[in-house]
This record gives sequence, C-alpha cells and structure tokens, in this order.
Amino acid sequence: MSKIDLHSHSTISDGTYTPTELVRYASAQGVEVMALTDHDDVGGLAEARLVAEEQGICLINGVEISVSWNGRTIHVVGLRIDPTHGDLLAGLEAIRAGRLTRAEAIAAELDKAGVPGSLAGAREYALERVISRTHFARFLVAHGHAKDVKAVFKKYLVKGKPGHVSHRWADMSEAIAWIKDSGGVAVLAHPGRYDIGKNTLHALFTAFKEAGGEAVEVVSGSHTPDQYRLFADFARQYDLLASAGSDYHGPSHNYFDMGKLPPLPAGCVPVWQDWPEMALFDSLHCCA
Ligand code: AMP
Ligand code: MN
Ligand code: MN
Ligand code: MN
Repeated sequence: MSKIDLHSHSTISDGTYTPTELVRYASAQGVEVMALTDHDDVGGLAEARLVAEEQGICLINGVEISVSWNGRTIHVVGLRIDPTHGDLLAGLEAIRAGRLTRAEAIAAELDKAGVPGSLAGAREYALERVISRTHFARFLVAHGHAKDVKAVFKKYLVKGKPGHVSHRWADMSEAIAWIKDSGGVAVLAHPGRYDIGKNTLHALFTAFKEAGGEAVEVVSGSHTPDQYRLFADFARQYDLLASAGSDYHGPSHNYFDMGKLPPLPAGCVPVWQDWPEMALFDSLHCCA
C-alpha cells in the first residue's frame, strides 16, 4: 500500500471531515504524505498544516479546480501551489461566485420538479464558501428523495435529470496558469471519470498538455485497476508525470478510503520525484 495520497476533501468544500479531522484521520490510516485538494478553495490549508506538523505528516498544499473544456466539466488538481498567490485566489473566488449563481439555478430546477426549499437545505450542509452538488445531494437524501448520495447522482443533478444546470467554469488554460504561476504543478484529475470515449480522451490529454499540464492521476479512488494501467500508458504516451490520490470525502461516502491506495504501476514517473520535501520520506516506495 502507498503512504502517499494527493487528493482529498474537507468541509471547506464537500468533504465531511474538517481539515483537522481529515489530517488526523489520514495519519491514523498510515498516510505519510497527503494533499488537501478542496474544490475551488484553499481555505483549509493553514489549519491542515498546523495539524500535519503536530502529527508529523507531510502536507502538500493543493486545490481541485473546476474547469470547462469542450462543453464538459473537467477537474484539474494543483499540487504544491502557493495558497497566498493573488491570481490563484482571485480565480478561485470567481469560481465560487459562479457556484452561488449555479446553486440558485439548481434550486429553481428542483423546485420545478417538485422539490422545494433545496437552496436553504443545501446551504445547511455547505459549511464554508463552496456550495456544490454534493450539498444538494445530502439535502435530497435527508428528505427521502434517494437512499444515498450516489443514488442521487443517478436521479438528479446530472444531464437530463431534474436539478441539472449546465455551467461555465474556468478555462482549462487559465486554471493551469494560476496553478503554475503560484509555483504548483497541474494534474489532470481522475481521467477515468469523465465518461468519454477514447478519441475524446486523447483530445483531452492533447489539450491538457498544450495548456501546460504536467501530470495525470494514474492511481485514483475513481479508477479501476484496469484504468491504473490504461492511464499509466497515457502518462507515458503524453510524457506526463503520474499522481495518486483517493479523492476521499469522508466516512459517510462510499468513496475510496485513505491509506488504501496501491503504488503507481511500474514505469510511471511519480509527480513527487523531485520534490524536496520527499527527501524526508526517502523510505517511501513509489512504484510497483
Ligand atoms: P460540483 O463540483 O458542484 O459539480 O459537484 C461535484 C461533486 O459531486 C464531486 O466532487 C463529487 O464529490 C460529487 N459527485 C459527483 N458525481 C457523483 C456520484 N456519482 N456519486 C457520488 N458523488 C458524486
Ligand atoms: Mn467532491
Ligand atoms: Mn473531482
Ligand atoms: Mn476531488
């Protein structure tokens, strides 16, 4: 099992553990290097860092940015970003403002479908500045519209179903520029999750490369073992570094747990290969 996990969420976005609880949990699970990558917000990193120091675990400053590409929503993870960088902060703030407008539109759509009160309901679950579909999903579960969050995303909030609204996120190239200008590395998140065919996947990798992207999540809580191998091949083909992350959102979700990720497939070049902070973790075995 790998002791590195470079994708996770706290209550700052749509995770259910606070940054403090999340870092303590990661440490208890045997994780030694973790990135907190909240959606469109870096507001949890300072708190996470304090706890990481106390727990003796290495925290990588991260963020998961929502971008639009070719009419689709794609996620770009930034690792080793500077959470005080002006352009990055301004860009994230604009995305969060867009989320508020989108939340109002989602609520209006749900209202039309006979589900009233969802904006106030979702807000009760959105504890900080990010409001997401996950918060609507929790409200819908609590009100008996589906048995769990996963089931919500089959009946609501997705294309063709009640509560779906299309939304324009940041441009891929601007999000990658914010990440890189702040000193970070841009990682294409969970490419296996976008439900797109081979040709579109290749177009996505090409666009990501052209926009300055440098790495891809090969091992992800959203990928099957076949997809670990598939995206290890993509990483080689597109000369991208390889990352690994559970995308953990907390115990109440049937997401992949922390501390259970397998190592990167042989032949991958780990995204962390040149990170100075990894020198402290020399014993960490990176690849199969
Ligand atoms: P948003 O960024 O507001 O569109 O919300 C996206 C979030 O919804 C993702 O980060 C996941 O946490 C969650 N989500 C999306 N699809 C699913 C699914 N099928 N099952 C569970 N959670 C999902
Ligand atoms: Mn999420
Ligand atoms: Mn994601
Ligand atoms: Mn995520």
